[in-house]
Amino acid sequence: MLFSKKIYTFRFTNEHFEFLEGYMETLSKEELDRFKERITKEYNALLEELRYREQSSIMENQRETGSELSSYANHPAEAASDYANLTMNLNLAERNTKYLKQLEDALDRIEKGTYGVCIVCKTLIPMVRLEAVPTANKCAECKNEVKRREQEEARRAAG
Ligand SMILES: [Zn+2]
Repeated sequence: MLFSKKIYTFRFTNEHFEFLEGYMETLSKEELDRFKERITKEYNALLEELRYREQSSIMENQRETGSELSSYANHPAEAASDYANLTMNLNLAERNTKYLKQLEDALDRIEKGTYGVCIVCKTLIPMVRLEAVPTANKCAECKNEVKRREQEEARRAAG
């Protein structure tokens, strides 16, 4: 169910009516609850994974410190693969941290009642897109437009 197409619409939140200035449509309470559950699950799973990785990397460090006198420790190939591992782990950590933030933002938008609305053009993001990318905060058109502009700026900066 969609709320009426008015520039000023309101919804019942925390025992009072809240005006959503400028939003044409919003998702229904049921839809928001469904996304909230899904995103919260994903968020908790990722947090657990990050904690687990942190734990195992601490253990890995302790293990490596223990075998410091091993003749392989300073082998160039070993050092290179350590470096590759480190870079890979850092990239992964960066991606995970970014995703964690996106999940947090999505939960925040659910709380504010602005979830599912494109932050650029303020229209409702199609349900099929939200199902595919629950953390989406822009419709596909605006996302592509932002990406295009970023690429253009990068090109200008490079050349
Ligand atoms: Zn948009």
